[in-house]
Amino acid sequence: MTKHIFVTGGVVSSLGKGLTSASVGMLLEQRGLRVRMQKLDPYINVDPGTMSPYQHGEVYVLDDGSETDLDLGHYERFTNGPLTRDSNYTTGQIYLSVINKERRGEFLGKTVQVIPHITNEIKACIHKLRGDDVDVVITEVGGTVGDIESLPFMEAIRQFSLDVGKENCLYMHLTLVPYLKAAGELKTKPTQHSVGQLREIGIQPDILICRTERSISREDREKIALFCNVPLEAVIEEKDKDFSIYEVPLSLVDNKLDEQICKKLGLPLGRLNIDPWRDLLHRLRNPREEIGIAVVGKYAEHRDAYKSIYESLDHAGLHNHAQVRIQRIQAEEVEREGPERLLSGYDGILIPGGFGERGIEGKVESIRFARERQIPFFGICLGMQCAAIEFARNVIGLGGAHSTEFSKDTPHPVICLLDEQKTITDMGGTMRLGTQPAKLEPGSHAANSYGTTKIDERHRHRYEFNNVYRQQFTAHGMQFSGTSPDGSLVEILELPSHPWFLAVQFHPEFKSKPIKAHPLFAAFIAAAVERHKSRGSERGKVLEQQPVDG
Ligand code: GLN
Repeated sequence: MTKHIFVTGGVVSSLGKGLTSASVGMLLEQRGLRVRMQKLDPYINVDPGTMSPYQHGEVYVLDDGSETDLDLGHYERFTNGPLTRDSNYTTGQIYLSVINKERRGEFLGKTVQVIPHITNEIKACIHKLRGDDVDVVITEVGGTVGDIESLPFMEAIRQFSLDVGKENCLYMHLTLVPYLKAAGELKTKPTQHSVGQLREIGIQPDILICRTERSISREDREKIALFCNVPLEAVIEEKDKDFSIYEVPLSLVDNKLDEQICKKLGLPLGRLNIDPWRDLLHRLRNPREEIGIAVVGKYAEHRDAYKSIYESLDHAGLHNHAQVRIQRIQAEEVEREGPERLLSGYDGILIPGGFGERGIEGKVESIRFARERQIPFFGICLGMQCAAIEFARNVIGLGGAHSTEFSKDTPHPVICLLDEQKTITDMGGTMRLGTQPAKLEPGSHAANSYGTTKIDERHRHRYEFNNVYRQQFTAHGMQFSGTSPDGSLVEILELPSHPWFLAVQFHPEFKSKPIKAHPLFAAFIAAAVERHKSRGSERGKVLEQQPVDG
């Protein structure tokens, strides 16, 4: 019998519901349970694929090509259950499906309404994750209790427990317990109000996770328990972690959250195997080197725009016993200030994926700098396309080389539209998406990093390397070390003459985990550590040559 955990949030957004849900999933898996994760998003976009990173942060792509919320990235990094397009539903998708059914006449003349038609559709989406091989489904509802747009989801999860039995459902609510400086104390009232709102809808939370900057006293926990109608032990403190997000699951274990969940749902309490996470934190606390990586993207101010890339760099740092200091640099700033001033101090340069022309020349300049100065370089998707543009212009001498995405009538379209894309006009869900196989050139950096010549990686792009230019690139020293199995699409470019210059058309950042860094990120950071060490010894030599006083 599959059990259900529903996670809601109150008081404010950005409480870290995704991370907490992922942590709960991880703890239950580490107790031997089979877990599936799901996110319900109340916005009307059918998926986040058409949203700007300013609105929504990164779009996280799954194996099956669905473009999903970035919380699914947390789920995949923390847990091992498969994620598919059933793992993320939006209001837009729900309505689209209901309206399509109405058009097909499936409602047999009835008036189609939010209750029961929309709520039934939502419940059906939750049901899809149940199965003989699933012990627990964790469904996180986006937004904050009290939002108009999340009401149908709240109503659906309330009804759900009537359908499958109250004993099979657990409601977990995340709230904020803010510290008021002027009063010098923590305040429990916002939590009381937010739980009050949930109870008005008919949901009595079983467990409250209280996000807070400071420790909550027993007295305050008792107050919350009384006013919110939950047992004292179910009021769980989740204090801000100033060190690392990897501390979150450990602090939840300390507060016995996993034990309470198993007890409430009647799940077997297997032995918890949390040692790999403790090791991870130990490594994190004891780095042998500290290196600097510049991520030159369109957005520098927005932390979530390249979320999985930053996470993957951290994983690769852990793998190499190095602390990675990530500097977000806006590509347009490189255009204004020049790469010398902005990029000289770093041990590696990474150019992430993206869309639109803004900052492209800054990215191309950054790549030139990395290539000429022998700085480890990693290009991802648009980053690979920019590497091709840079090489064409500055090494082969193809002046004005460009991608037709940005210059329709460039004399040298080294990046152009995929054939299958030429007749497509819709923007949503129409790119080359999801996992595709590729073959690697034996002996290349790519093949050596992966330790194999056959890989599967996730894609999200419309444009590709133009094969007309392959011969000229090779003649000037570029290696096409990865292609689609039939050789028709370029997947990886690398420069054998450079310490580490590698660019990929796919998105390796979606397959990196804290405990299992992605091989290309691991190799990139290893190269950056090498550079850091050799620069250290160069600096050492300079110091040795200085006359010593006295
Ligand atoms: N804009 C480019 C394309 O569509 C790159 C996409 C990306 O970086 N994800 O091909």
